[in-house]
Amino acid sequence: MGIIDSFKDVFKVADTVNNLDLYKKLSELQNAVFALEEENRELRDELRHRDEQKDVAGRLRTRDNAYYLDDGKILDGPYCMTCWDADRKLIRERSGATPGTHFCAFCRDKRKGR
Ligand SMILES: [Zn+2]
Repeated sequence: MGIIDSFKDVFKVADTVNNLDLYKKLSELQNAVFALEEENRELRDELRHRDEQKDVAGRLRTRDNAYYLDDGKILDGPYCMTCWDADRKLIRERSGATPGTHFCAFCRDKRKGR
């Protein structure tokens, strides 16, 4: 039985005894439980996000001033070092005008104030 159903049952019992104070206290309790559920969901999301970042950080390899993601078979990239180091964002770099060079469009646009 879920929490919402449990509260429905408890509220039915509260209705039968017809006690307003009890009903108010139950409403406060219900709101507190819902707030805890929301906080719990947010913490779970944050934990999962951290686990994902930890996994990525453990698989990053540095080459030619860029990061590459190692999946055990290939190195995927290049990814911007600045974006990962500063913001923990994996931003794929684009090929530059000169063969073998690459740049981050996000960093370029940020410098230009876009
Ligand atoms: Zn960047």
